[in-house]
Amino acid sequence: MVVEYLLAQQVLFYWINMSGEHTAKTEMLRAISWAETGGNDPLRGLGTFQRRFDSLPDRGRAFSLQDQILRCIDEGTVGGVHLAGSGLFYRDKIGSDFRGRVHGVYSHEGCGAAKLFAQTHGIQVENTDGVGDQEAKEIAGILQVPYLGRIPAEGMMRPREIHVARAVYYVGSREFDPAAINLPPGFVINREMISDASYALAEVELATQIAQGEHGFGDSFTGETPLFIVAVSDRKTHSVPLERLAEELTDLSKRLRAVELDTIQFSA
Ligand SMILES: [Zn+2]
Repeated sequence: MVVEYLLAQQVLFYWINMSGEHTAKTEMLRAISWAETGGNDPLRGLGTFQRRFDSLPDRGRAFSLQDQILRCIDEGTVGGVHLAGSGLFYRDKIGSDFRGRVHGVYSHEGCGAAKLFAQTHGIQVENTDGVGDQEAKEIAGILQVPYLGRIPAEGMMRPREIHVARAVYYVGSREFDPAAINLPPGFVINREMISDASYALAEVELATQIAQGEHGFGDSFTGETPLFIVAVSDRKTHSVPLERLAEELTDLSKRLRAVELDTIQFSA
């Protein structure tokens, strides 16, 4: 039965590829990924991110990072510290904000921020991975840490073809990794490390555009099944408190389509 199913799937994928309908393959992948990330209810009946968070064992692990290496905000490049394209849009302040706080820099395959950077700078190349690598190397130089290479698609926590983010985490605590405890996949914006709040909000907007765009779940996000923008914090003295995060997000969230604000407060 299982073999038959796998065979049928293989034949279908073969047919789709041979008929040149790559979009059909992507559509199928998108439908499977939507279901895998919780379908129309990524909070699994619990209603809020706080309740979902409180229901998870070892939830404190989300607030303790395995490494302090800078990588993209992409939901596939889990763990560590994040800036869009490893900081290629934040060159003027990255030194003062991040020097001494990260131990290395990664780029990654298929980076949407590197693609956008190439477009906005008139760099005309077929594949922009090299642009992302070069920028990450220069950023590593600014931060006086090693460039640690390009994370390949196989090393990322999402399919190569599409984004599967159901949330954008706007993080006021020093450390946070939603993937460590199986929260819905999402972009991570490290607000606590970014001194320029307007830039942090621009990253939220970029992440929303990617998640709701043609490479993400697109129009599957609606008023009933929104993309969640989740303010996250703990009660440590250096953290940006939840109230301030929510206040910063208010105007932006009113402008964006099919999003809903939510919060996670860690009290340990
Ligand atoms: Zn990226």
